[in-house]
Amino acid sequence: MKTPDSVAEALAGRFRIVLVGTQHPGNIGAAARALKTMGLSRLVLVAPEDYPAEEAFRRAAGADDLLAQAQVHATLAEAVADCRYVLGCTARSRRVALDELPPRQAAARALERGAEGEVALVFGRERTGLSNEELQLCHAAVHIPANPEYSSLNLAAAVQVLAYELRLALLESAAAPAGAAAGPGTGHEGPASHAQMEGFFGQLGQTLDDIDFHKGRTPDSAMRKLRRLFLRAALNEQEVRLLRGILADAQRMARLARGGAD
Ligand code: SAH
Repeated sequence: MKTPDSVAEALAGRFRIVLVGTQHPGNIGAAARALKTMGLSRLVLVAPEDYPAEEAFRRAAGADDLLAQAQVHATLAEAVADCRYVLGCTARSRRVALDELPPRQAAARALERGAEGEVALVFGRERTGLSNEELQLCHAAVHIPANPEYSSLNLAAAVQVLAYELRLALLESAAAPAGAAAGPGTGHEGPASHAQMEGFFGQLGQTLDDIDFHKGRTPDSAMRKLRRLFLRAALNEQEVRLLRGILADAQRMARLARGGAD
């Protein structure tokens, strides 16, 4: 039987913290420290501007083991390709059609999804945050409800807040009756991975072109809304296969209507 500790440990292993394009190595070190204090251990760096750097190791204090194991990727898409759930942390509301959650709700959601597969919490650059394209790769945005006139926390401080909320949620779930910590979805077909969803969105975009859905309008706004809709639905692998089968048929019919050979 699982002890509360082993449940917390198993779930903590499912979470990765992804820092995108970090400019100051000191923030990478401080983020590593923030994670370790909260029992998290997996740090992923996407195209850091200055890394490895002595300053990062200095600021990590006793968390340099975590830094030494940090994975480095060239793009966010690569860093989260195997994730089932991706949360993007933003200092301000963006004009991307994305659900926005406060940290506590985000941690609860992350824990639920962590029972089914890998979860990523993504943080942006000090100067410019995450780009809209990067936010589009996320299932939901997380905003710490800070002072609206001064809402941008230091990167490592934002990591600390989210890591703390995750820890609280983990401790709560570990204290809950056996079985509850596994969350919903256990025993069902697994949720679609990030890469599977991107494959689906690629085919959806192509199909909308094939059936002339946009009629000369740019496809961006419709695609953003559709992404939001399908990401909110938390599709499993079987559902994605079903939808892709429907799209394939629509594409075949469009080819026939154009008089092309099938
Ligand atoms: N000037 C940037 C702020 C970047 S702060 C901007 O306007 O977007 C660096 C990162 O810390 C952000 O990308 C975000 O991931 C995180 N962060 C800072 N303040 C936050 C807040 N209030 N809520 C959620 N994340 C925050």
